[in-house]
Amino acid sequence: AKSSGREGYAFYEQELTDYARQRVELASSLRHALDNDELRVYYQPLHDLRDGRQVGMEALVRWQHPQRGLVAPGEFIPIAEDNGMIGAIDAWVLEQACQQMMRWNGEGNTLSFVAVNISSRLFSRGELAQKVASVLTQTGLPPEQLELEVTESAIMEDPDAAQKLLISLRALGVRLAIDDFGTGYSSLARLKRLPVDKLKLDQSFVRGLPDDAEDAAIARAVIALGKSLGLKVLAEGIEQRAQADFLRELGCNYGQGYHFGRPQPVASKSVDPDNTGDA
Ligand code: C2E
Ligand code: CA
Ligand code: CA
Ligand code: CA
Repeated sequence: AKSSGREGYAFYEQELTDYARQRVELASSLRHALDNDELRVYYQPLHDLRDGRQVGMEALVRWQHPQRGLVAPGEFIPIAEDNGMIGAIDAWVLEQACQQMMRWNGEGNTLSFVAVNISSRLFSRGELAQKVASVLTQTGLPPEQLELEVTESAIMEDPDAAQKLLISLRALGVRLAIDDFGTGYSSLARLKRLPVDKLKLDQSFVRGLPDDAEDAAIARAVIALGKSLGLKVLAEGIEQRAQADFLRELGCNYGQGYHFGRPQPVASKSVDPDNTGDA
């Protein structure tokens, strides 16, 4: 029994080393991912819960790694945040998403906006608002067709810096959403002063709906909070019709999740003639 403990520890140590080595490898190949054209933007539909209409798309980055295949952002965004690549990646996704939204506009699509995720690591740096302004000018996208998502926990890491940043972004005319809402312990006093349009109810509170009483209580509270602050609420991670129905009845405005559609690359026109995104 004693030796199995030792072995268990050795195994754990070995796993840690493997993990650390993998991370170092990924970090160094990530430096070339942008230059080698290995990043991809997938888009997931956002729907109005009341009439079921699609209102927007969220841009979600993936890494098409030459050996590993498609790598999820959960695996490489934290590495990019540590090795300083995140600014370049977020700026690239922003550009791609704005260009793509202009293409959709040109194709007669009636989507209201495209949503782009912004890492907390960019908050303390002044360049973000300038970058957003220059991408809008360069692509010609009307600012109200761009929504920027910042996580609640990122805001709460440095609320004063976040507030300044959000105010400077708002001045550009873009929409602002608080991502993963409910997981970051915002103070209500702070929330009241943030110039945002939308709360994205974190998917961990949607998973147990409609049966889980605690999830239902949290969903109800966040929707009520949004309503009383004049903010729209979008529920993430809706996988079942019953969840969409339940949230609609609570007054939730928008929904996102596999029930409506998974993140997908944009199909080229030749293989997707009806332009619905599913060739
Ligand atoms: P997020 O912004 O909260 O994005 C939603 C995540 O939930 C996405 O994972 C999406 O694929 C997944 N999802 C959507 N609907 C469902 C559903 O019905 N069920 C389940 N189980 N999952 C669902 P993804 O694409 O792997 O992205 C993970 C996270 O990586 C994102 O979470 C976001 O925080 C980050 N991320 C993605 N793209 C970017 C980016 O361009 N920049 C930055 N800074 N972060 C990004
Ligand atoms: Ca998001
Ligand atoms: Ca989220
Ligand atoms: Ca199609």
